[in-house]
Amino acid sequence: MNSPIDENINCLPVISPVVGRFAPSPTGPLHFGTLLAALGSYLLAKQSGGRWLLRVEDLDPPRVVSGAADAMLILLEQLGFEWDGEVVFQSRRFERYRQVVEQLRQAGRVFDCSCTRREILASAPHPGEEGPVYSGTCRNGAQGTRAERAVRLLVDDEIISYRDGIFGSQEQHLEREVGDFVLHRVDGLYAYQLAVVVDDIDAGVTQVVRGADLLSSTARQIFLYRALGIKCPEYFHLPLAFGDNGKKLSKRNGDIGLVTVENGTNMLWRALQFLGQMPPQELLSATPGELIGWGVKHFRIAKISAENRPIDF
Ligand code: GLU
Repeated sequence: MNSPIDENINCLPVISPVVGRFAPSPTGPLHFGTLLAALGSYLLAKQSGGRWLLRVEDLDPPRVVSGAADAMLILLEQLGFEWDGEVVFQSRRFERYRQVVEQLRQAGRVFDCSCTRREILASAPHPGEEGPVYSGTCRNGAQGTRAERAVRLLVDDEIISYRDGIFGSQEQHLEREVGDFVLHRVDGLYAYQLAVVVDDIDAGVTQVVRGADLLSSTARQIFLYRALGIKCPEYFHLPLAFGDNGKKLSKRNGDIGLVTVENGTNMLWRALQFLGQMPPQELLSATPGELIGWGVKHFRIAKISAENRPIDF
């Protein structure tokens, strides 16, 4: 389907000073995939003289691994990352998320949904990328059989188009590809899509640099910015590094790609290399901090190839 791509659509032009951020989920130790997001967001923010914020996305208690956030913060500091201001913890911001859902409710943008997973599946027009597309069953009053309610954001019959700074033009028809999406879950927890937008807005973030696995969430987030009447940041999605099993390198791959103080220089060097920056060989004997310093000077977005690919450790 053709649709006009309006590259300026409610996204901020490149402005100075930049406010970037790194927002890891504390579900395990720091691994290569997370290091890419830390490094990319840090270098891009710092080389324009901007600020770099740190947020711990401990939104979903069952997924949080005790001690993982502290260990990650200590390691980032040891590697030479310097964040600005206090670290934000999502687990302390539930009241703020509640206020924003209430604001959207007052504006008639959300509705309560009582559908069970099975009912959603049964009425889904077709499978979406991340599960069945919600068909709008409860838009005009809860029709499902569940006693508890989720709160969903009403989406439009409209294509969201934007330009990613690495992956280029993107578009998604939310109603057809996702459906009205959840902001407040039946289990009482707030959804990632809501928390990330509210936190970035409250912190004044102007630049989001993160892994390409979140490209498919970006249209939802832009839609949420619009619903709140706020301009969205610019987006840069970094290519994903796969393990040799073809899966995204993550905490679930065990020790492969785990970052430590001891292998910090090597991992940072490889991260720069993976991002196409071609760091000099002699930096393999530098300190992690020196490597990051080199990155701040030499990092160029244009050198990054927008291609998810394997990496061998
Ligand atoms: N917490 C997410 C993750 O660790 C990142 C969210 C974001 O950068 O928007 O994958």
